[in-house]
Amino acid sequence: MTDDLFSRDAYLATCEATVLATDGVGVVLDRTVFYARGGGQPGDSGILRWGERTVVVTDTVRDRESVEIVHLVDGAPPPVGATVTCELDWARRYTHMRTHTALHALSGVIFRDHGAKVTGGNMESGGLARMDFELESMSAELGRDVEAELNRMLAEDRPVHVLLVPRADALADPDLIRTKINLVPAAIDPIRVIDIEGIDKQADGGTHVHSTGEIGPVHVVKTESKGKANKRMRIQLDPS
Ligand SMILES: [Zn+2]
Repeated sequence: MTDDLFSRDAYLATCEATVLATDGVGVVLDRTVFYARGGGQPGDSGILRWGERTVVVTDTVRDRESVEIVHLVDGAPPPVGATVTCELDWARRYTHMRTHTALHALSGVIFRDHGAKVTGGNMESGGLARMDFELESMSAELGRDVEAELNRMLAEDRPVHVLLVPRADALADPDLIRTKINLVPAAIDPIRVIDIEGIDKQADGGTHVHSTGEIGPVHVVKTESKGKANKRMRIQLDPS
């Protein structure tokens, strides 16, 4: 299994690694800084460098069967056994980190002020994202209220903690119960939890910023109804 360095340090933009396997389009490494697409966060892109050679990583995914992290490359992959340098497209990834933390904070604000749970969400590149809520009604006015409250809380520069919580403790934590913590596969123990101090706490495998001040202003650019009890908000972050 690949050592997923990003889960312990989201700010690592490069690392050295050894090629364990390749099928010509995908490369498996012994360690990596590339986040594999999942949990609504896009997979990382960048380059692999070995000797005088480089190849572009267009996306990073998790293989459905082996659950290995696979770096999808556009060009000839490095040979098995080669030592490579992984270099992230850091600007793109950092925007994903800011966006991901913003989405968690948004879900915390909506739950606290409106009692609504999240039914889905997704991030695009460029600081754009959407989140769906179990809400009866949605309006532009509600969007503006949520935006103001979200930005007020983010501007307090609250710390974001990455915790490894024993499964039994996580299942008993009232803050985590609302996020359907019981749906995390039974084999996972401890459970990785992202805690945005005083705003939101949930099980998550993604990469996040250290504090909410890094996110900057969040704009609610669209509110829409996706069904009776399913309402959507689209957000846009400023460039970093
Ligand atoms: Zn998340």
